[in-house]
Amino acid sequence: MPDKEDAMTRILITSAIPYINGIKHLGNLIGSQLPADLYARYHRARGHEVMFLCATDEHGTPAELAAAKAGKPVAEYCAEMHAVQSEIADGFRLSFDHFGRSSSPQNHVLTQHFAGRLDAAGLIGEVSEKQVYSRADGRFLPDRYIEGTCPNCGYDKARGDQCENCTKQLDPTDLIDPRSAVSGSTDLEVRETKHLYLRQSAMKDRLDAWIDSKTDWPVLTTSIAKKWLHDGDGLQDRGITRDLDWGIPVKKGAEDWPGMEDKVFYVWFDAPIEYIACAAEWAEANGKTDAEWERWWRTDRGAADVRYVQFMGKDNVPFHTLSFPATIMGSGEDWKLVDYIKSFNYLNYDGGQFSTSQGRGVFMDQALAILPADYWRWWLLSHVPEGSDSEFTWENFQSGVNKDLADVLGNFVSRVTKFCRARFGEEVPEGGEFGELELALIEELKAGMNSYQKLMDGIFIRKASQDLREIWSLGNEYLQEAAPWATFKTDPERAAASIRLSLNLIRFYAVISSPFIPDASAKMLAAFGLDGGDWPGDVETALSALKPGHSFTVPDVLFAKISDEDREEWQTRFAGVRT
Ligand SMILES: [Zn+2]
Repeated sequence: MPDKEDAMTRILITSAIPYINGIKHLGNLIGSQLPADLYARYHRARGHEVMFLCATDEHGTPAELAAAKAGKPVAEYCAEMHAVQSEIADGFRLSFDHFGRSSSPQNHVLTQHFAGRLDAAGLIGEVSEKQVYSRADGRFLPDRYIEGTCPNCGYDKARGDQCENCTKQLDPTDLIDPRSAVSGSTDLEVRETKHLYLRQSAMKDRLDAWIDSKTDWPVLTTSIAKKWLHDGDGLQDRGITRDLDWGIPVKKGAEDWPGMEDKVFYVWFDAPIEYIACAAEWAEANGKTDAEWERWWRTDRGAADVRYVQFMGKDNVPFHTLSFPATIMGSGEDWKLVDYIKSFNYLNYDGGQFSTSQGRGVFMDQALAILPADYWRWWLLSHVPEGSDSEFTWENFQSGVNKDLADVLGNFVSRVTKFCRARFGEEVPEGGEFGELELALIEELKAGMNSYQKLMDGIFIRKASQDLREIWSLGNEYLQEAAPWATFKTDPERAAASIRLSLNLIRFYAVISSPFIPDASAKMLAAFGLDGGDWPGDVETALSALKPGHSFTVPDVLFAKISDEDREEWQTRFAGVRT
């Protein structure tokens, strides 16, 4: 049922922003962007006003190093990788209203603005630190870009923060024969450098009270936040600057920051601010005024009635429950705080972990090269790591696609349209009326839709996908019982009524499945000459939307089955490591 009181709802949705460094794997996709897209599509389909934002996270040393490896200036490298990630996002039909960049001029201005406000509020402290400087590289080196021999186990590629071999936590000065991971140079020295810290500890009580007020948040989210707030010495202050070239120059608003020349903000500080800057980029890209993006973000400028929902992997929860809210609250301005955080566990790959650094698993570009987006969308969303980690195996993927998409949904569409074409021609047949079977089906569909919508509203994705599959199955079960191929011989009017209902059911399925499988949905609607459809209010009314005489064409196979040969071939191809 369309909820009237809810009809004017405005929903701001952000997905955790992927790092610019390389193409993401399917675990990244299902850990944030894809569920966020499902939610955005669902609410748009329900007639709500949605602003769905995502961006690339472009600053920090990994971007610099990746650019150096590619032999390109870092700005050029980031621009190219943004275009690549953007194209892949389009391929998966991620329906961002804007896919921004954390290196945008808008984010520069906003990040400097927030830093200035925080400083004025007494929430920024200056700390003197000793850090390793590489004379050959002409730069300070972050801990993990110093390599050397582990004093504990003798491993010769230990990093300055930790030894990968024996897992011992290290300081760069612990390493034997330390060298720069950037150039290999051993001409290193320890220098003193000053950094700005965000005094998160001063915000602890406010953050604690705010988290306590979020009684509807998933336990996964609040327990992580509480742990960071209270474990050990409690919430720690955090450095927000770095001695790097690539990044947002440290300034107080538009003014210089004495002593902070040649420094940039630390990537964790500017990345979440990009959620806001992205809306400003959206406005610029679409010829809108500042007021039009601010009505999503400033509670004093129209955003008071906005519901803001964030999607992310569990590793990102501390930044979104504590650090970013500390930035917003500390500014003393009326910026929108998140209303609901949906966080995810991890998707594992065939007995291990997906890994970008090790090239293990299926990457987004590879996935699209072998199968259309809907196959992946359906499987990933119906196996989303919600309550616990979940695992991708090729057998499971093959079985999910073949059973749910090909056998249940695809088969129904194919049987109904082909039978109608053969017996009644390519238009919705007339004659006959709903009987007991049809009325029973409508009751079941009503109950199914009620549950499906509740689960989608509550962002219980796995269960919602089960409900949707159940609703698809009702069509096949109905068709078996109504058996129009049999009644056609004895009571053609009865068969016509069954097929008319079934054709309407295809349209109905197309509309309610569109958040999960937008391409197949569009194909089903196109078979009836439609390019969209209203979300069903009353089920019975929705099932008579296509009137007798409405023409259609039999669509091509909606979902091809994955053969055992294909599965085995992919299994082998993706068993190794991407180079
Ligand atoms: Zn070691």
